[in-house]
Amino acid sequence: MSSLFISDLHLQPGQPAVTAHMLSLLDKLAPQYDSLWILGDFVEYWLGDDAYDGSLDPVLNALKSLHEIHGTRIRVMFGNRDFLLGDDFAAKTGSEVISDDKVLIEEAGRRILLMHGDTLCTEDSGYQQLRVILRNPTFIADFLRLSVPERVKKAVALREQSQAETADKSSEIMDVSPATVAATVKEAGADLLIHGHTHRPALHQAPDSGYTRIVLGDWHPEGAMIATLEDDGTAALRHWPEDFS
Ligand code: MN
Repeated sequence: MSSLFISDLHLQPGQPAVTAHMLSLLDKLAPQYDSLWILGDFVEYWLGDDAYDGSLDPVLNALKSLHEIHGTRIRVMFGNRDFLLGDDFAAKTGSEVISDDKVLIEEAGRRILLMHGDTLCTEDSGYQQLRVILRNPTFIADFLRLSVPERVKKAVALREQSQAETADKSSEIMDVSPATVAATVKEAGADLLIHGHTHRPALHQAPDSGYTRIVLGDWHPEGAMIATLEDDGTAALRHWPEDFS
């Protein structure tokens, strides 16, 4: 089994260059892999399947084609921007939507823990408190009963509040907590952790830790740092498209 891992595309109509890089990845690179994992924040915001306006159809249709033509298994994990992805999205894209904040896979001889990564940022207590509220099933059910314009209004207000709070937070607070990472990886018995969210792409290999941590990058008009896992168990962090030409 070989896999491709991407995250934090933050797809939105106003970023055509990012959309073009994703379409090109789905066309040229993804068919060479058995599975594609999208580890959260695939879209800039998702306010419910019934609120979707069709503006991302080129990418959603290309995902579906990848699955139908090449048999690629596509998994889309919730991020903090798109935890309302539902069954209609899954059907439209030929993907499986994953609401768990972590998934352990055994593939190519490795034990790999996959996460969006926001739950690793435990030093940001304000964010973690807000997350508990936003992920509460009652809150979600109430939110989805609102009209689409009301949902947009609420999401914009939450965004502004979060941006105001972020401005006061230090860079360390908004990164993963090293202690939380170590404990999470140990509990899972993983030898590789792949996550996104922090937008700090890197391959961390602490000499004595016994595991590797790959942080995926967010997408820019120039492309993005993504991860590959080959059949022989080799994992790498590479730039799409530069490192594949
Ligand atoms: Mn995120």
